Amino acid sequence: MSEEIKGRISVETENIFPIIKKWLYSEKDIFIRELVSNASDAITKLRKISLSEEFEGGSDYRIDLDFDQEKRILTIEDNGIGMSSEEVQKYINQIAFSSAEEFVKKFQGEGGKPEIIGHFGLGFYSCFMVSTKVTIETKSYKKDSSAVLWESESGTEFAMRSSEKTTRGTKITLYLDADSGEYLDQWKLKELIRKYCDFLPVAIFVKNEQANKQTPLWSETPASVTKEKYDEFYNYLFPFSGEPLFYVHLNVDYPFRLQGILYFPKLKHELDVNQSGIKLYCNHVFVSDDANELVPKFLTVLKGTIDIPDLPLNVSRSYLQSDPLVKKISAHIVKKIADRLNEEFKKSEENFRKNWDEISIFVKYGMLTDDKFYDAAKDLIFFKTSNGEILRLEDYWIKNKDQNHGKVFYANESETSSIYMDLLKSQGLEAILVDSRIDSHFVQFLESKNPDMKFQRVDSELADGVIDKENSSSIVDADNKTEGDRIQEFFENTLKRDGLEIKAEPLKADGVPAVVLLPEHMRRLSEMNLMGGQKPTDLLKNHTLVINTRSGLVRNILGLSKGTESIKAQRLVRTVYDMALLSSKIFDESEFAEYIKRTTETLEDLSAP
Ligand code: ADP
Repeated sequence: MSEEIKGRISVETENIFPIIKKWLYSEKDIFIRELVSNASDAITKLRKISLSEEFEGGSDYRIDLDFDQEKRILTIEDNGIGMSSEEVQKYINQIAFSSAEEFVKKFQGEGGKPEIIGHFGLGFYSCFMVSTKVTIETKSYKKDSSAVLWESESGTEFAMRSSEKTTRGTKITLYLDADSGEYLDQWKLKELIRKYCDFLPVAIFVKNEQANKQTPLWSETPASVTKEKYDEFYNYLFPFSGEPLFYVHLNVDYPFRLQGILYFPKLKHELDVNQSGIKLYCNHVFVSDDANELVPKFLTVLKGTIDIPDLPLNVSRSYLQSDPLVKKISAHIVKKIADRLNEEFKKSEENFRKNWDEISIFVKYGMLTDDKFYDAAKDLIFFKTSNGEILRLEDYWIKNKDQNHGKVFYANESETSSIYMDLLKSQGLEAILVDSRIDSHFVQFLESKNPDMKFQRVDSELADGVIDKENSSSIVDADNKTEGDRIQEFFENTLKRDGLEIKAEPLKADGVPAVVLLPEHMRRLSEMNLMGGQKPTDLLKNHTLVINTRSGLVRNILGLSKGTESIKAQRLVRTVYDMALLSSKIFDESEFAEYIKRTTETLEDLSAP
């Protein structure tokens, strides 16, 4: 090229920079990502050409970053495809510059909505955010092509002339502005390469030291990757995370392109649910740590990488939310995860059970938030049981349906040694154990999905089997009242309390004088309240006290109540009630002092000579 070509875009400098700066302000660093990924694309293109055409390019492809602190210049050089003068005209002057122009017009038209950013290829242009002057020296791989020098000091006007460059490829030189001295630093540049370009398929050097790792494991064929490799990669991405439970290798070509590896981390605490661990890539270029819009919330507990080549690099949140591709991808991932869980289950039910503790929160959370996930994984719901087993809900149901009369008994894990459980166990009945906050939602959810199953807390009603119907005495006295009626009456007269209902029943456990039952709906409401930070005390006042007519203590009380010692009997009634409240865990702590006082009096009574 002998003549110099000049041109400008029609947008004024005063217009374009404040707007683009606003966008880039928080993430100025991304110009590195843009320029290096352009360089990597140029190399990938040449690699492809060398497969099909005669091209003597050699194989020593590389990208070099270098800087000169005194001159304040940063260079990014590749030995890729290069550009002819026509190509610079087309790709830089027309495409890169005109998309900047279009961007500004659109931005002003839309009142500056940031979501439109993702639609513009402003990649190359981003270097003007840190530079007072930019030059491109480039030479196409084509034989006999001559090198071109392009330069622009303003980002709106450019000039082109021939260049002395003798080697194939492109070298971009940035004359950094006064605010951008931080990029004249090897450590900083290496850090940025590692962050954004770690997995680009070409070696990237900063002052001759390789800065990227270069093997995106997710792009390899799943069959060729060993478990060790998967584990090693997991620990490379997330140091000190230990071994993952299992992983899913995503590899889709149609109807959309998607690659990635998602790991199930070991999750012990519900808190982990909020930790985001999925890194989003676009053609191996890191885009963001926040793939929340791409996968349903429950899947953000997974860790790993997702690479979607057809997403624009500068994706904004709202862009992702509205993108139909994103919805399809999300549904695909959900399906794959459920498939993987089913596979793991089929491979070894025992192993699955062993890992259940660690994946249960994720599975439950997933089912609660995503119906499709529930449908695909509903055979994989396990619970610990009061017999010390871990059973599939389905298996618990089949095993216990008849003797439970269509109920699923459940209790908190912390209550395994309660009198309710003892009563239940003594009749050979089995309960499932729930242990986390999510379970109170999950139980309701399971009920809504399985109308046959009625979930009943062990302390909300007594299981039929616990009441000794056969041996219940029906002998009546002169007033036509049974012993049970008398006991009930005496307790009712002694314990007058709003919301308290009293019943007398012959329970099959002689050692238990009484139990408190809390209606299922009250218990659920109070748990919801607890989650909302409210004290559930008032709700808990509505409960039933079941007096065991077969208890020796209760019978003694009845005996005392008829004679001169009815005060003593009243005190004992109160103590029986207190004990039942205590073992039901709904004892109101504000009454503790009263309780101690009452008990002391009772004991004084008892110890009196
Ligand atoms: P995008 O990369 O989104 O297409 P850019 O503004 O970053 O937009 O680049 C515009 C075009 O300039 C690229 O598509 C490519 O054809 C060309 N280009 C940019 N950098 C290089 C390079 N290092 N080598 C060869 N061509 C390049």
